Amino acid sequence: MPHKYVKFKAEVVTGQCPTCGQNAVLVSLASDHFRCTTCGSDLKQHINGKISYLPVMVSPDKIELS
Ligand SMILES: [Zn+2]
Repeated sequence: MPHKYVKFKAEVVTGQCPTCGQNAVLVSLASDHFRCTTCGSDLKQHINGKISYLPVMVSPDKIELS
């Protein structure tokens, strides 16, 4: 049996968001990429002993200015 209830197709986890500091619900966009539903930040999951979430740095070069 799954160890947790998953409502959506995307994986939903809770963790402390480093951007807003809340214990937030994080929705997986990819295997190691989550989005905070509280502040909307994209986070990358890092696993080294413990799981932590780091903000995804978006290069200004990749932001399309229209
Ligand atoms: Zn957040």
